[in-house]
Amino acid sequence: MPSNGSTSPVTVLGLGLMGSALASALIEAGHPTTVWNRTASKTGPLVAQGAAPADTARAAVTASDLVIVCLTTNDSVRTLLEPEAEALAGRTVVNLTNGTPAQARELASWAAAHGITYIDGGIMAVPQMIATPGAYILYSGTDETAFTTHRPTLAALADTKWVGKDPGLAALYDLSLLTGMYGMAMGVAQAFALIRSEGIPAQEFAPLLTDWIVAMTHGIVPGGAEALDTDQHLTDVSNLAMNREAFPNFTAAFAEQGLRTDLFEPLQDLLDRAVEQGHGADGFSRMSLLLRKD
Ligand code: NDP
Repeated sequence: MPSNGSTSPVTVLGLGLMGSALASALIEAGHPTTVWNRTASKTGPLVAQGAAPADTARAAVTASDLVIVCLTTNDSVRTLLEPEAEALAGRTVVNLTNGTPAQARELASWAAAHGITYIDGGIMAVPQMIATPGAYILYSGTDETAFTTHRPTLAALADTKWVGKDPGLAALYDLSLLTGMYGMAMGVAQAFALIRSEGIPAQEFAPLLTDWIVAMTHGIVPGGAEALDTDQHLTDVSNLAMNREAFPNFTAAFAEQGLRTDLFEPLQDLLDRAVEQGHGADGFSRMSLLLRKD
C-alpha cells in the first residue's frame, strides 16, 4: 500500500532544470527522495540536500511507490520506462514531461497493460516557481483514487489541479494554456521589434504594453469564452470586417520599418476567410471556429 503521509517516499527520474527543482522541493518538504538521472553527475546538489542517489533506473523505481518522471520528451519516457515495466507494476507513475494528449493516452494504455497506475501532469511553472505560491500542476488519469492518495506528496511541488479521468486532459489543458502564452509572447516580440525600429527603448514602452495586454485580456478572454459557449458571435465592439480592413496596416508598417512580416501574414488570411464566409459582423470568438479543420 502506498503511504500517504507527509513523509512518504518518492522517486524522481530526470534531473534537468525542472526535475531537479521538483526533487529539491520534495526533499525540502521532508520526503525521503530517491533520484536518478541519465547523466549521473546531476544528482550531486540533490544528494548534498539529502536525496538518495540510485545507480540505475531500476533501483530508483523500486525505492518508492510513487515515481515522478520529468524528461525532455515522452519518447524518452517510454524508452526509459519500458524495460522497467515489471518493477513498476503496482506503483504509481506521475509523468510531468510535456507532451500531447495522445501521447499521454498511449502511455496510460501501456501502463495499464502492465499493472502500473499512470497519472499525467502538466507543470504550469518554471523551475524557479516550484514550491512557491502561484505555481500549479495539472493532473489527469483513470485512477483518481491514486491521485488523491499521492496528493499530499504532490502538493509539495505546487498547487494540484485535477482535471479529469481522461489521461490526455492534463496535456490538453497545459497546451491550451501555453498556446495562449505563446501567442502573447510572439505578439510582444513583434511589438518590441516595431517600437525599437525607431530607437525607442523597449523598457520605456513596456509599461504601456503591459497595461494594454492586461486590459485586452480581461476584455477578450471571458467575453470570447461566453460567445463561444453560447454560439453568439455578433459584436458591437470590434468586428472582423473592420479588423480585416485595418490589418494590412500592420504588415505594411512592419515592412516600412524594416521588419519581417511573416509572423502576422497568416492572420490576414484568417480574417479574409472570416469575412468571405459571411462572418464580418462577428467578433474574435468566431476565429476559434475557423481554426477547426472541418
Ligand atoms: P532539461 O533539458 O533541463 O532536462 C531534460 C532531462 O531529461 C534531463 O534530466 C535529461 O537527462 C533527461 N533526458 C532527456 N532524454 C533522455 C533519455 N533519452 N533518457 C533519459 N533521460 C533523458 O529540461 P527541463 O528539466 O527544463 O524540462 C523537463 C520537462 O519539463 C520537459 O518536458 C519540459 O517541457 C517540462 N517543463 C519544463 C519547464 C521549464 O521551465 N524548464 C516548465 C514546464 C514544463 P541528462 O541530464 O542525462 O541529459
